[in-house]
Formats: sequence, C-alpha cells, structure tokens
Amino acid sequence: MSRIPWVDKELCISCTLCVQAAPEVFRMSEKNVSQVYNPTGAPEGKIQLAIDGCPVSCIAWKDA
Ligand code: SF4
Repeated sequence: MSRIPWVDKELCISCTLCVQAAPEVFRMSEKNVSQVYNPTGAPEGKIQLAIDGCPVSCIAWKDA
C-alpha cells in the first residue's frame, strides 16, 4: 500500500518550509497555502522531513 502527503489548508500558516524541504512535492497555491502538486515527486524520507518540519503539524500521510 502506498501513501501520499496531504496538507490541511485550514491550518497552514504559509511559512513555506515544506516547499523549501521538498519543492518537487509541495508548492504554494494562489491562496498562499501549501499544496501537494506532485505527491510522488520525492522519496518518502524526504517528504517525511518536510512533514516533521512543519511548525503547525498540518501535513500528514494518507493512503493513496
Ligand atoms: S510547513 Fe506547514 S505551515 Fe509551513 S507552508 Fe508547509 S504546510 Fe504550511
């Protein structure tokens, strides 16, 4: 079973850290919150670092 990252846009504070950590996966949307535009764009370990670095813990894994 594979999994993909998911962002709770209600909680995102637009710090851009996840985009800096894994720009292949995350980008800032037109509303200036993080969005997952390419969920399999980086290895899980790299995505996990972005998840761990989110200051408000609003990124989580979801089953693909
Ligand atoms: S690290 Fe978290 S709070 Fe910061 S932009 Fe990404 S999802 Fe939003």
